[in-house]
Amino acid sequence: MEPQTEPQTEPQTQPPGPPPIHIDDRVQMRKPHPCGGNDWVVYRVGADIGLRCLQCGRHVMLARRDFYKRLKAITHQAKFPAANSPAYPEGTETN
Ligand SMILES: [Zn+2]
Repeated sequence: MEPQTEPQTEPQTQPPGPPPIHIDDRVQMRKPHPCGGNDWVVYRVGADIGLRCLQCGRHVMLARRDFYKRLKAITHQAKFPAANSPAYPEGTETN
């Protein structure tokens, strides 16, 4: 019998399924914004994901499904380190 309480310390490995996203996370999308910027900050999380372009400041709202389809990388996670990302319940909108 192997112990099942061994912590997993593999920050390079991406978990299956969509990664959790939080307000103030910084992300990169597959297609850059027409202004040339490709860095976005998350300002709204709910059924839709709200993004603000860090280059021109324009706001964009994407459905959660479209957001994950276009997501390229999360460059900065505001609240949780990448190594410790629990299964996060969706639809917890507090606004
Ligand atoms: Zn822009």
